[in-house]
Amino acid sequence: MGENPAMDIRSVTPTICRLMRIEPPTTCQAPLLEPVLALGLSKVERVLVYGADAIGRVFLENHADLKKRLLAATDVQVELRAMTPPKTPVCFASMFTGALPGVHGIRKYERPVLTCDTLFDALARAGKRAAIVAVKDCSMDIIFRNRSIDYFTEADDAAVLERTLFLLSEDRHDFIVSYNQGYDDELHKTGPESPEAVAAAKRHVETFVSLWQATEEHWSGHGRALSFVPDHGAHYDAAKGKGDHGEDMPEDMDVLHFWLVRPRAPADGMERVRRAWDEAAASWEDFVESGKDWYRLGLHGPALLRACGEVKGLRVLDLGCGQGYFTRLLAQAGARVTGIDLSGQQIANALRHEQEQPLGCEYFVLDAARAAERWPEPSFDLVTACMALDDMPDPGIVLQVARRLLKPGGRCVFSAVHPVMDAPMRGWEKDGTGRKVMLKLGRYFDSGPACCPWTMARLKRYWTTPFVRLTVDGWSEAIEQAGFLIRRIYEPRPTLEDVAREPQLEDCRDFPSFVIFDLVAANGVEPGYDSHR
Ligand SMILES: [Zn+2]
Repeated sequence: MGENPAMDIRSVTPTICRLMRIEPPTTCQAPLLEPVLALGLSKVERVLVYGADAIGRVFLENHADLKKRLLAATDVQVELRAMTPPKTPVCFASMFTGALPGVHGIRKYERPVLTCDTLFDALARAGKRAAIVAVKDCSMDIIFRNRSIDYFTEADDAAVLERTLFLLSEDRHDFIVSYNQGYDDELHKTGPESPEAVAAAKRHVETFVSLWQATEEHWSGHGRALSFVPDHGAHYDAAKGKGDHGEDMPEDMDVLHFWLVRPRAPADGMERVRRAWDEAAASWEDFVESGKDWYRLGLHGPALLRACGEVKGLRVLDLGCGQGYFTRLLAQAGARVTGIDLSGQQIANALRHEQEQPLGCEYFVLDAARAAERWPEPSFDLVTACMALDDMPDPGIVLQVARRLLKPGGRCVFSAVHPVMDAPMRGWEKDGTGRKVMLKLGRYFDSGPACCPWTMARLKRYWTTPFVRLTVDGWSEAIEQAGFLIRRIYEPRPTLEDVAREPQLEDCRDFPSFVIFDLVAANGVEPGYDSHR
């Protein structure tokens, strides 16, 4: 890599114009970023561009954890050259015009307002609403002034993030540039690899993950693109004893840009769930099978199996079985199990496991809410769901279906996120060592559809899934309406031996992360049964 990459950062502008189907600015002479265009064939309606100043390729390659996080949140990485000299106003002028410095006129560190045609003029001409969010008096704040777009000038990077999140939640802009400069500030003071600079770069990457989450949440109804587009890199200047940039050297000139292009999420709730879990399938498989899903493998999975009791010889239906983790546990315990899942990709993985290590599990791609169409008669002794019911658009309906599928005296046993643990406002108070000591909770009673961004660092790739938040009371109501009686509620807690074996389970010693309901379909109790009204 890096001998003489043909492409440079000017290509950001024509690529955005192609994605949004608008005419590029007249200044634009740069080629398209084909790997980015290959991601999405349909029109993109919303674009968020996050510029983190001075984070170059060499820096990211020295910090594999940061690069991994950027890759996990995006679809493609492109290596590009900065402009010469690699200075912020020179580079951003080229990035948002598609023109060389000789054309747009900024050839050194100077910050005039550009008078040539820019991406922002092109957006305004096409009737798009654009915004620049940047710290007061930085290049990004100044050089694109006097256009018909919105300018948000903030006090610092944290305020830029807050403003950008607010604009995303409003969903009134088609195009947003959000620019952060903390890493650049630090590297000039200390050096590109100083602890302060590395911490600032880490904040930029975490900011990008927060923006990813917000676009998943607020822009899911639009075809959208998100990108991480630094302007240039930086090097250590031994003579000065600190960092700088502006030289024609790989540290300064080579950048990695990361892009994500997503189609609009389906309006239909079921289709949305299906697509989300199809898209998650490869990363999900890695998460569960490589031991990284320690709560499932070491805590709530085994606890759910214990709650099921003796399953030998029982006919069991496992709802929302995913790639078959819990289905296989049941089969290994002697049950005759059928697993169903809405996602064909998840079932393909489950079938592969069955082929590699046959346990007699059968699998079907099937919406749990429609399972009674496949089995019109009561056919099962036990219906299970491992952390799956609240991922379905209507858990109450699925419980009613489960009730109809059960033979007399049959049981339904399922696990879910503990309702206190997915309250919309939740934060940890930690001690000096980072150990969780107290949970702060807010808006517990907010229930209904929500979205869950999966961005743990241990994931190969991040994804978002829709889910339905239910309170304890909400679960209880759905259970009663389905015609079940609660036999027992479990709050799985690891033993000290469990924690010795898997230290990551320690935070579950003090907090109830999961809940298991053990339900019995009482004879004579039909779905919709209402005892007290
Ligand atoms: Zn700088």
